[in-house]
Amino acid sequence: MKSVKDYIRTIVDFPHEGILFRDVTTLFADPRGFRMAVDQLLHPYAGMRFDKVVGLEARGFILGGAVAHQLSAGFVPIRKKGKLPGAVISEDYQLEYGEAVVEIHDDAIKAGEKILMVDDLLATGGTAEAGIKLVERLGGEIIGCAFVIDLPDLGGRKKLEAMGMDVHALCA
Ligand code: AMP
Repeated sequence: MKSVKDYIRTIVDFPHEGILFRDVTTLFADPRGFRMAVDQLLHPYAGMRFDKVVGLEARGFILGGAVAHQLSAGFVPIRKKGKLPGAVISEDYQLEYGEAVVEIHDDAIKAGEKILMVDDLLATGGTAEAGIKLVERLGGEIIGCAFVIDLPDLGGRKKLEAMGMDVHALCA
């Protein structure tokens, strides 16, 4: 039987030379693959109650929406700067070259709400770290951070675990 990893395509030198881009569109496009990924993302949280799933732009929206539906939870997007229409709070973080900013609506999460964070891939952990800070600034309690792919050599898991996060990934 195929595993989640078997549905993911690697594109060499995208978007820059030297990057092995893990393309999850082939996973999302396959009916069995997509269901398997969503089911496996949820697996450690069976029987737990979440108020909201937070998805990181952009592939975290696709996974997070499906996960939120399964959990009967709400969905909250964390977006790149300037995309959300209402009042936001922001976090800056370092990219390999330069800086980026992510934002969340300032009324999207209430204090004490239980949150599951979802994205397709954990690399350096910079994006997820910024997302965690946004959720925590609004008083949300992050119960877990779930990714389809973890690239362990890039240190993201260690970074998030050092912040006290519980990290779940389906493949490396
Ligand atoms: P990082 O902040 O370094 O953990 O990077 C994670 C974010 O960048 C995720 O939203 C990923 O979708 C994207 N990303 C980073 N590296 C890759 C890669 N090799 N293939 C696909 N997406 C990546």
